[in-house]
Amino acid sequence: MKAETLLLAVGIEAGYGRVQVLWGIDLAVLERETVVLLGANGAGKTTLLKTLLGLVPAWRGAVRFLGEEVTAWRTDHRVRRGMAYMSETAVFPGMTIEENLLIGGQFLSGSALRRRTGELYAIFPALGERKRALASSLSGGQRKMLGIAKALAGDPRLLVMDEPSAGLSPLFVKEVIRVLEQFRSRGLTLLVAEQNVKFLELADRVYTLEGGRIGFAGTVAAMHENDALKRAYFGLK
Ligand code: ATP
Repeated sequence: MKAETLLLAVGIEAGYGRVQVLWGIDLAVLERETVVLLGANGAGKTTLLKTLLGLVPAWRGAVRFLGEEVTAWRTDHRVRRGMAYMSETAVFPGMTIEENLLIGGQFLSGSALRRRTGELYAIFPALGERKRALASSLSGGQRKMLGIAKALAGDPRLLVMDEPSAGLSPLFVKEVIRVLEQFRSRGLTLLVAEQNVKFLELADRVYTLEGGRIGFAGTVAAMHENDALKRAYFGLK
């Protein structure tokens, strides 16, 4: 059976004021796929993710999610429909662990939210042990775990993540990848913007973003066969 296209972006152009950042982006994420969007600082990754979520308006082009055109939808409507977004900062530091999860799952009914937070505390026991601690009291790595739990609290179909590795030690990067692998095996669909090629371990497909344009789109294996990409992203001669 052919996998359903969960997210489809066609011809996306966007920017800030008069400055255009994205130039005709086409991108698709299929159901249960993990797609990594690889790009250097300033390539436009955050802008693209925010445009997909409706946090930055698209100047031109269309975004479709679960078969519906959502280009003009407000962000909260997209989230209710099943999108979740984890920004680089990921959590509200002045709120407790529990409050962060309740905000992440705010569109669920009371009983569904209780069930979901229970599941998440079972997956992240370190969070469950300290529900009333402020997020600001957590280490960088634990905060990132809370960010993932918060983004997943609403039980989304698609998790869109902006640089989950930012500010993390290599050990925690490994831990984040391990946790995402777990959710992926339970059927979660992921779109992850990263500079860290370690995340390609998770990827079914890769897009590279260069100066606001898609450079390469394909499998990780195809990327490895391309010498120019290998030099640019893996530092190989
Ligand atoms: P990073 O890894 O640094 O977050 P990125 O690939 O996510 O990089 P963006 O944050 O999308 O890139 O930035 C793309 C371009 O848009 C950059 O030139 C940046 O300076 C510019 N830009 C980003 N946010 C704004 C804003 N709010 N107003 C004006 N320009 C912006």
